[in-house]
Amino acid sequence: MAYEDMYLKDQRPKVDCLVFDLDDTLYPVSSGIAAEVLKNIHGYMVEKLGIEKGKVSDVSNLLYRNYGTTMAGLRAMGYSFDYDDYHSFVHGRLPYEKLKTDPVLRHLLLSLPIRKVIFTNADKVHAAKVLSRLGLEDCFEGIICFETLNEGSGGLFAAPILCKPSEFAMEHALRLANIAPQRAVFLDDSVRNIQAGKSIGLRTVLVGSSCRVKGADHVLESIHNLREALPELWEEAEKAEDVRFQSKVAMEASVIA
Ligand SMILES: [Mg+2]
Repeated sequence: MAYEDMYLKDQRPKVDCLVFDLDDTLYPVSSGIAAEVLKNIHGYMVEKLGIEKGKVSDVSNLLYRNYGTTMAGLRAMGYSFDYDDYHSFVHGRLPYEKLKTDPVLRHLLLSLPIRKVIFTNADKVHAAKVLSRLGLEDCFEGIICFETLNEGSGGLFAAPILCKPSEFAMEHALRLANIAPQRAVFLDDSVRNIQAGKSIGLRTVLVGSSCRVKGADHVLESIHNLREALPELWEEAEKAEDVRFQSKVAMEASVIA
């Protein structure tokens, strides 16, 4: 390896990717979207799967706790349903107008010259709608979503659904996106996702909470506090930019000389 390459590698920021959950992380739970999602999941279980109305709340709770998402639990229980139909029922009728453009978050994200990726258990249509409502559609390099991990796995002989907080699913997602966990920061509002993230070597930020929990390296009440909580991300990124710039200038100068 050339000396310049070795030098640049040594000067790389410790963090080279931020992995963001979407719902209740990029916008607050107070938007009311999460409550509407839950209502629609219950509606789907009654209307499409014929589960008794009085039982859906307990069943979905149990499945959510044991399988990561209610959907994954329903699939594991042997219910056969079309994943696109489920997503359009659960997300298609959401009051997206409750989500407002967030120029503060947009500025914060764009001011940080580090790779940023979304990692959500939701489907790609929902992810695109949320990002567009928040005015953040161009702030991320890519979206890891339901389809990324489960494309083509539906149908009668469906494989188990892969989703957070399965460590297998999370490691698979990071590999697909070429993200090294020890050089990435993972931000999510779910304690169990954060704990799974910690187990696979990610640096973790629990969003939407004021209580420290096991597995969370940082806790933020709002994603808007990111810079105050982790100023080193900006400092390191700026230092790395400077090194790259100085190295480029030095190389150009030596070529000219
Ligand atoms: Mg979330």
